Amino acid sequence: MKSTGVVRPVDALDRIVIPKELCNTLCIEPKEALEIFVDGDFIVLQKHPENTIRTAKGNLGIVRKVDPVGRVVLPKEICKKLSIEPKTALEIFVEDTKIMLRKYESSCACIFCGEIHDTIIFENKIVCRKCIDALSKLV
Ligand SMILES: [Zn+2]
Repeated sequence: MKSTGVVRPVDALDRIVIPKELCNTLCIEPKEALEIFVDGDFIVLQKHPENTIRTAKGNLGIVRKVDPVGRVVLPKEICKKLSIEPKTALEIFVEDTKIMLRKYESSCACIFCGEIHDTIIFENKIVCRKCIDALSKLV
């Protein structure tokens, strides 16, 4: 999973703007239906697969449409569950075709590639193993 490096606040109506570049990459158009579900402390948004709202893990997703300016309303029950209130900042991650949102505390992503797994802190910077390997091959 990679951080997009984008942190966005939830607005007064529990909406969050999905970054344009991300919509382009994942081919999400205005009015597109997204399935929304919770996975741990992440909110997962995924293009709605034909008529099925059951995810791999058997959770029932909630389907919401992206509005003309790329916003999506986060379901009340999900906001409640994760204690997300208006103005809560969410960090936006991507994994395959999924958009993952998580409450922003401080970034835990590799400074080079945005990876959040298998990272270490070096000189106060976060670096992942892959980038360390790649860097070590340069010397
Ligand atoms: Zn990295």
